[in-house]
Amino acid sequence: MTWDAVVVGGGIAGLVAARELVHDGLRTLVLEARDTVGGAVAGHTVAGLRLDAGAESFATRGGTVAALLDELGLTDSVRTPEPLGAWVHLPHGDGPLPRTGLLGIPADPWAARGTLGLVGTARASLDLVLPASSATSLGDLVRRRMGARVLDRLVRPVVGGVHAADPDDLAVDAVAPGLPDALGRERGSLARAVRSLRASAPAGSAVQGVAGGLHVLVDALVADIEAHGGTVRTGVTVGSLDDEDADRWVLATPSAVDLLGLAVGRPDPGAQVTLVTLVLDAPALDAAPRGTGVLVAREATDVTAKALTHATAKWAWLALAAGPGRHVVRLSYGRGGDDAAPDIDVALRDASVLLGTPLSRDQLQGHAIVRWTEALPRPSVAHTRVVAAVRSAVEPLAGVAVCGAWVAGNGLASVVPDARAAARSLL
Ligand SMILES: Cc1cc2nc3c(=O)[nH]c(=O)nc-3n(C[C@H](O)[C@H](O)[C@H](O)COP(=O)(O)OP(=O)(O)OC[C@H]3O[C@@H](n4cnc5c(N)ncnc54)[C@H](O)[C@@H]3O)c2cc1C
Repeated sequence: MTWDAVVVGGGIAGLVAARELVHDGLRTLVLEARDTVGGAVAGHTVAGLRLDAGAESFATRGGTVAALLDELGLTDSVRTPEPLGAWVHLPHGDGPLPRTGLLGIPADPWAARGTLGLVGTARASLDLVLPASSATSLGDLVRRRMGARVLDRLVRPVVGGVHAADPDDLAVDAVAPGLPDALGRERGSLARAVRSLRASAPAGSAVQGVAGGLHVLVDALVADIEAHGGTVRTGVTVGSLDDEDADRWVLATPSAVDLLGLAVGRPDPGAQVTLVTLVLDAPALDAAPRGTGVLVAREATDVTAKALTHATAKWAWLALAAGPGRHVVRLSYGRGGDDAAPDIDVALRDASVLLGTPLSRDQLQGHAIVRWTEALPRPSVAHTRVVAAVRSAVEPLAGVAVCGAWVAGNGLASVVPDARAAARSLL
């Protein structure tokens, strides 16, 4: 059978691209290697609660994810996190993260004084008077402009949590689109650049979620694709473009490099991230002692987790579903390069330290340990070069498009508009 279009990879990128194609009347087939579609956006049930097993929120930047949710009839399900703020866990105690920052970079260093200390804050403020300079990575940029404390206490913990990578390995434009231009406009000042980017973002929270969990989006996408005549098949690994007869191909996976036989180098293989979800009977956590969660500085060696999300403090819909005194806590493990394999006792101990509340096995009502591999490509300078080479190799190929976090950057706010554009380039 000849298809108008075949999409390889049924993650969010592949599904969004397929939806675009079926809406244009194309007979489209989605092929997904795993037993379920959605990729890093997945659901699971823990202690009777339906929860996200991977991604749980989306950045509001650009408004593209909200627009997709609107089109899928999910407008009323969009939720804003509780405005409790988050913390960073440091060797000498915990400090609040700046609420108006970008990847931990403070728009106003003085607002982060409690976490940076007087010396760190004073050093960060030099950013306003230092002459403009160029930087080789995000880490280099922050160190030059604001100093080591901002890097170690704010940016490295946040970037480790979001990208499972070190800021010294990341290209600035790959993780903070718009920042290089804003730096140019603001004569090199990082604080002023962050402030101007935050001011131009939509009002309100920088992230939002979906009642019932972000994975509800996957179900809605599949239903819409099938309602428009598309076909979604799981358990099929595409090893060659000869596997199907198609007029158009959307390759929504890094295996595009092999499928097309491109000699451009290897994209980053993606970090190993392990998520441990704990459902606890713990009324002491009703007070949300660490707001929506805690990011861990590398220098803090008393825990092995890199981040903790207090999900029932962050999402009111989840607190309601869990019921009084019951809490959902999610810990993530695996800094760049680590192959972390935490067990439940390690996770309980880490949660106790990070939340400052003793938590024991007899409070545990259920737990899940989910390992993600290849799902979070680290946008290093080398990876960014490979992506540029892939894009220019694919552009002249008729009927072929690539999309996904590996080319667009991590996170739904990057993946969704890129996948739509990839599909439209074939119409
Ligand atoms: C633990 C975790 C938490 C995250 N949290 C957030 C968050 O809160 N907010 C946010 O915005 N982003 C978050 N992200 C990032 C976000 O989930 C991803 O950027 C996004 O989901 C990537 O979508 P994708 O379709 O590009 O890739 P994937 O989700 O990786 O999907 C690719 C799919 O292609 C399939 N595939 C690969 N090769 C083949 C082949 N040859 N044949 C057939 N199928 C193939 C894979 O099985 C996979 O299902 C998180 C990621 C992880 C891992």
